[in-house]
Amino acid sequence: MKEIIICYQGEMALKGLNKATFEAALAKTLRWRLRPLGEFKVYKAQSTMYIEPETGAEDMDEAFSRVQKVFGIAALSRAAVCEKDFAAICQTAASYLETPLRGAKTFKVEAKRSDKRFGMKSPEISRELGGFLLGRYPHLSVDVHHPDLTVMVEVRDFAAYVHADKVPGAGGLPVGTSGRALCLLSGGIDSPVAAWRMARRGLALHHIHFASPPYTSERARLKVQALAGLISGYTGSCVLYVVPYTPPQEYLRDHAPSALFTVLMRRSMLRIAERVATEIGCTALVTGESLAQVASQTLWALACTDSAQSLPVLRPLIGMDKTEITAAARAIGSFETSILPYEDCCTIFTPPHPKTRPTPEEILAAEAAMPGLPALEAAAAAGVERVRIAYNEQEEFA
Ligand code: ATP
Ligand code: MG
Repeated sequence: MKEIIICYQGEMALKGLNKATFEAALAKTLRWRLRPLGEFKVYKAQSTMYIEPETGAEDMDEAFSRVQKVFGIAALSRAAVCEKDFAAICQTAASYLETPLRGAKTFKVEAKRSDKRFGMKSPEISRELGGFLLGRYPHLSVDVHHPDLTVMVEVRDFAAYVHADKVPGAGGLPVGTSGRALCLLSGGIDSPVAAWRMARRGLALHHIHFASPPYTSERARLKVQALAGLISGYTGSCVLYVVPYTPPQEYLRDHAPSALFTVLMRRSMLRIAERVATEIGCTALVTGESLAQVASQTLWALACTDSAQSLPVLRPLIGMDKTEITAAARAIGSFETSILPYEDCCTIFTPPHPKTRPTPEEILAAEAAMPGLPALEAAAAAGVERVRIAYNEQEEFA
């Protein structure tokens, strides 16, 4: 029995004249993600993406879990392909779904006939197939409102497809269709979630991390690399830019007014991020900041941070609290790595009493009194190390 993966569109279906561009991006991503698993044919028909293994030797479990992480797919199902013939549909449903049918107490059949040349209408298919399955599995009863199992039949152009309930996909828009941004990845709980949320809106992402050895350790950096790897399961390959941030940070420690240290450091980080972003063609920055979470994330502090450079700073977590962010981190699988206890450069040298309402005037005055900082920032940006985070081993990099 031939098995395929069917991907249903959500938001993408509403894209009007641009829809073809989104669909092409999605198909390209799917081909790329599945490439190491064997030969797959990926094609589109009636706003649905089909993924068809060509030889039967492909790893369908792994393929399905990879496709579940591809943005742009609202729901997906693993389906058996069968002839557009009612008897064949009955036999296929009974055998392909044998395990779930045996495990369920109640079920219903949902049929969809987009090929109007097929002789039976949808309600008739549902009714007749339901009767057939009740005969085969007499322990079952029908429940049209809350069934344990929904048997779905789709009669489409090329074939009929039989499957159980659809499962939710990653949603959003295909990566790359909204442009490219650079994410400030810290190793904490927040920034991986921010990355995931922006990638889900169609952004292609690279990451930048500020490391301050010997104050921050090699293990802290490996943790960030692991998080970038985890996010690449959703975004595909990316590059992690690691900034040697010790000299600017020590300079700030020695020269910045203590109460303004953190905001001044964040401005400095954003200026370096802007340089790197511009060099690699990223047109926005992403951070995991959330309003009022800490002193450097008050409205006044964020305004001072924003004005340090000219790229838009996207903060998808701005209105979320820590409980919501933590739940999101668990759902995307980054939480366990994020809570490994390695220090971040943002938490070293932090003053005991940071100012929550810094003003632009005092910030600019403080920077004017630190004439050595720009050269150190330029050197840090020039010394950035490029770490490749590969989704597929043989993958090339843009
Ligand atoms: P996270 O949980 O992601 O570490 P946080 O609230 O602990 O966030 P903050 O120190 O408040 O971290 O920094 C806010 C944001 O600044 C982070 O979400 C991240 O985008 C960025 N950031 C902080 N430290 C670094 C770093 N060392 N390298 C890159 N980006 C960083
Ligand atoms: Mg935070």
